[in-house]
Amino acid sequence: MQSKELYNKILESNKKWVAEQTKKEPDFFTQIADGQHPEYLYIGCSDSRVHANEIMGLKNGQVFVHRNIANMVINTDLNALSVINYGVEYLNVKYIIVCGHYNCGGVKAAMENLDYGILNPWLRCIRDVYRLHQDELDAIEDKNKRYRRFVEVNTYEQCLNVLKTAEVQKSYYETGYPRVVGWIYDLHDGSLIDLEIDMEKELSKIRKIYDLTKGKRK
Ligand SMILES: [Zn+2]
Repeated sequence: MQSKELYNKILESNKKWVAEQTKKEPDFFTQIADGQHPEYLYIGCSDSRVHANEIMGLKNGQVFVHRNIANMVINTDLNALSVINYGVEYLNVKYIIVCGHYNCGGVKAAMENLDYGILNPWLRCIRDVYRLHQDELDAIEDKNKRYRRFVEVNTYEQCLNVLKTAEVQKSYYETGYPRVVGWIYDLHDGSLIDLEIDMEKELSKIRKIYDLTKGKRK
């Protein structure tokens, strides 16, 4: 189908979806419009093949979502940090999930020694992850296996970046939430793999350098 024809069908499809949804759950839109109380904040890649609600089997209103290239949590990115702040302080999410995925174009680009123009500063943050895990990654001879492992360690590092934020540290020590978890989505079979990050252990290491729970500087 031509892309213009496909585009023209979008609004028609929306009407069909509204009708079906209302038939299934007559209060659906009234309830949704009332407010959101999601328990999960999902930070994932912008990749068109990876959709938070779909892969988690959750409905509208159940997951607060932030997406960017290669699911990064960069400490000067006001967008990601605002989402985390709002999710923790106002929505009181119980879990923050950082979800990477195999075959990630952003991670692949970071593995190539090429000048990507405006993308360079973003890719540099991913390349910095490679440098942190260089010994392990360089030792993997098979390029595809190295690529997969790079996706995993990148997701792990972004979980640590979430743990470095003041609101996450404060909320966790006051309430036991949010818990921060790292997942990898496998595009080949649709499965989610839990990286089983030991949050307590990581936090205790992180707090030696990034502890922000002792109050503001006076
Ligand atoms: Zn990706």
